[in-house]
Amino acid sequence: MRKQLKSLIFNRNPGNRFSIPVLLSSIEKRGLEKSFSIRVADDLCPDSVPDEAIVAFSFQTVHLPEVRADVRRFRKKAGIRLIAGGPHATGDPENTLKLGFDAVFQGDGEIILPDFLETLAGSGKWPEKQIFRADPLDDLEQSLPFSGMDPFIPPIEIMRGCGQACRFCQTRGRKPVYRPMDSVRLYLKEIRRRNMLLRLGFICPDGFGYKQEGLETAEAVEMLLAESRSMGIRFLEYGIFPSEVRPNHVTPQLLAVVREYCSNRKITVGAQSGSERVLRQVCRGHGRESIEKAAGLIREAGFKPQLDFIIGFPGETEDDRLETLEFMRRMGTRYGAWNQVHYFLPLSGTPYYGMKPSAISASTVRKLDRLASAGLANDWWKKGLVLSRKIVETLEEMERNE
Ligand code: SF4
Repeated sequence: MRKQLKSLIFNRNPGNRFSIPVLLSSIEKRGLEKSFSIRVADDLCPDSVPDEAIVAFSFQTVHLPEVRADVRRFRKKAGIRLIAGGPHATGDPENTLKLGFDAVFQGDGEIILPDFLETLAGSGKWPEKQIFRADPLDDLEQSLPFSGMDPFIPPIEIMRGCGQACRFCQTRGRKPVYRPMDSVRLYLKEIRRRNMLLRLGFICPDGFGYKQEGLETAEAVEMLLAESRSMGIRFLEYGIFPSEVRPNHVTPQLLAVVREYCSNRKITVGAQSGSERVLRQVCRGHGRESIEKAAGLIREAGFKPQLDFIIGFPGETEDDRLETLEFMRRMGTRYGAWNQVHYFLPLSGTPYYGMKPSAISASTVRKLDRLASAGLANDWWKKGLVLSRKIVETLEEMERNE
């Protein structure tokens, strides 16, 4: 029989709250909660961590500067072990290790973390190896976002990977896997059992790319939404965060399905740029025409189009940006679109990792501000600009300190 070993504490923050329930479920499935005293903590500080505890971080590149500062604080406490996984660690395990972690996981956490804990529980010894890698999960049924250890249940992931190769995105190049309906049913039963029927969305890199065996996409999405609705969900959402759609996959059939079953009256499309040159350069696999067609279809179907754009891509010129701004204006005035403007972030594991964003001139800033005051766009890019600089500075500082 295994003896109770150490405390395992998940350091929860807004960036990883959807992932932790999945990790807890994978631990519970292997019975490892009997070998570790496990808890999830918000705003964790070193003083509240018992001696010899393992503190688990799961984070994205956008959180790199904060995590680096956190690791420094935790490292001052003797005896504890720090482990890291998630998108940033997967994209750059070596540099993640250099932040001061004792073990780093590259790959899908629901395989690699229980494997690691099982070995640790069996041997009772901390391994010498520091970077652990796993092959990608090829079956989403193995991954469920609920456990008896946490009352929180996030939206369920119905598709992982997307088959596209956008150069700025960490999902790029991963062969997609889809959650079958039987697995979604397990989830629906659990949220009904816990009486969490108020609002439901789905995690999907391309909401209009979801598939199920033997069904067309519109049929697969309809089955998913019809069964969810029949559970008594009050606000069912699809085609907005976290299941935004690719422009070239928008069809009248899919929009009609969303209209019938869902409460959202907006559809979010990943447009990314209004410059044909940039769309080609970042390997989007669609042109401006697809975005405009999608906006028109969305409007015709009675939804408001919300278009996500990124400015500041490496290699983007001032002319490219002006084209994008002009395109956003046209989408707003012609189709009533709301443009959500993000700033380029150099994410780990992508060809643009660590690259500096292109600079934005004062006159473009004024034009962006005018679009915002006209009610056609938001100014999220301003926060992104600060964050992007911080990420690049952190990576540069780490390189200097090597
Ligand atoms: S941006 Fe969207 S379409 Fe492109 S690789 Fe990422 S998830 Fe796929």
